[in-house]
Amino acid sequence: MFGGLSCAVCVFSGIVSAGQGGYGAAMKTRAPDLTLADSAEPALDKADVVRFRPHHFLCAIGFEGKGYSGEFTENMTAIVLDRLRAEGGEATQMRVVGQTDDICAPCPKRRGRLCTHQQGISRLDRAHALALKFEPHEELTWGDALERIRENVMPGDLSKLCGSCRWLDYGMCEAALQRLHDGVLD
Ligand code: SF4
Repeated sequence: MFGGLSCAVCVFSGIVSAGQGGYGAAMKTRAPDLTLADSAEPALDKADVVRFRPHHFLCAIGFEGKGYSGEFTENMTAIVLDRLRAEGGEATQMRVVGQTDDICAPCPKRRGRLCTHQQGISRLDRAHALALKFEPHEELTWGDALERIRENVMPGDLSKLCGSCRWLDYGMCEAALQRLHDGVLD
């Protein structure tokens, strides 16, 4: 279960094989080492900064009120629906982090700063960080993040980018990505 922990300090530094979509040109490119840099993350977060690990930027556009537990869903609803998608939400300040984030906080799968499925989560984060060209501790607005997704992740890319994520087959993330490209994402 914790097979990825032996290299937890380098989970973002591996060679990532991306797909053929909008991020396909980056195949076998070294991803930024966000986790190593996490040790230097400011101890005190500004209360108005939302901390997201790389793959949660795309999860946030596909979120439709379902999650791993009542508490998890309530927390993600407060962040995504009540904040990012609220009027003026595009101005929300975000920070890219290399381990557990504001979405993970109440997750029943969280174990400290790690996850019961750490290996798969690390794989997702590496692929998404590479696709979205995130730098360690990068700060950007939610509006900037949406633009970054639009520029770098094309409709159809999620089947490769998100691998074995259990939510992929429901289709809501790919549908939201298409709406983003069509300019009709709510
Ligand atoms: S398929 Fe999974 S990892 Fe990909 S955006 Fe959706 S919830 Fe996130």
